[in-house]
Amino acid sequence: MMDAAKLHRDAVVVDGHIDTLVSIVKQQRTLGKRSDEGHADLPRLREGGVNVQLFAHYIEPAYKPDRGLLRFMQMADAFLSEIAANADHAGHAKTVDDIERLIEEDKLAAVMAIEGAEAIQGDIAVLRMLARLGVRVIGLTWNQRNALADGIGEARTRGGLTELGVRAVREMNQLGIVVDVAHLADPGFWDVVDVCEAPFIASHSNARAVCDHPRNLTDDQIRALAAAGGVMGMNFAPNFVHPELGARVHPVSGSLAPDDAPRATLGMVLDHIDHIVNLVGPDYVGLGSDFDGIGDTPDGLENATCLPGITAGLVERGYSEPAIRAILGGNFLRVFREVWPEH
Ligand SMILES: [Zn+2]
Repeated sequence: MMDAAKLHRDAVVVDGHIDTLVSIVKQQRTLGKRSDEGHADLPRLREGGVNVQLFAHYIEPAYKPDRGLLRFMQMADAFLSEIAANADHAGHAKTVDDIERLIEEDKLAAVMAIEGAEAIQGDIAVLRMLARLGVRVIGLTWNQRNALADGIGEARTRGGLTELGVRAVREMNQLGIVVDVAHLADPGFWDVVDVCEAPFIASHSNARAVCDHPRNLTDDQIRALAAAGGVMGMNFAPNFVHPELGARVHPVSGSLAPDDAPRATLGMVLDHIDHIVNLVGPDYVGLGSDFDGIGDTPDGLENATCLPGITAGLVERGYSEPAIRAILGGNFLRVFREVWPEH
């Protein structure tokens, strides 16, 4: 059998989504210092073998609708300040060349991502400025409606992309910003399939056929994402993982599992990967832990140091080495290579 620990160390590991900046911006902890709080910081990401980390700049509901850009700027300041303070261990990656150089230097490649396009405040010029600041992934919505689209919390209205949303997606294609459909309501997902001319991602969404939660993707959606050459990152929120929890919980919440809920496990995360691989092959699935954005974690995935367990599980389930490398990070890198600007 393959040496899973060695494979995990050798492979490029990409995590498509963590919310650690929320704690950083509130000065509850720092990126550089190992904490007992939450799930991730530089020491724990390193121990978990993560090479590339997408840091969500999450626009909390209190900043909507009119202070999204302010909150983004505060988050970006926290991100860039932390990266500067930890320059020996991490760097801001704006290109795939940056990622490769940082990995070569044994540093974490930190990517600026936005969760909730309230940050552009309805103006395409702001979108262009965000690209200049180094934003490389934007989730069009969180759970609410915004000027671009309806989030999954507004699914009742059946609203898709607005005209501004269509323009924003087209501009993101021009700018080399990856469109992220996580949290988007289903009609908006299908609008992205129609409008977006580049591979798109669901940075932290699972398979609805395994766990029937609206934050997860249907098989038809997974096929469409794969046909576009995209990737979906496996979310560790128990409510999105456990087959019995999806339909039981608050329609959109990832964090509020009922007290008597059965425990989600690492093996159940692997079940989502199995399902997606059976459906479309191993080239469209990755990791999107949602660490520090979820209240509870599956058994075996308590924090970022546990990620080698994913590789051990995939080896145990008979996945080939190329397939495991693809799932751990190769698939995300392929999308970045295709979409991001070269310089
Ligand atoms: Zn999220």
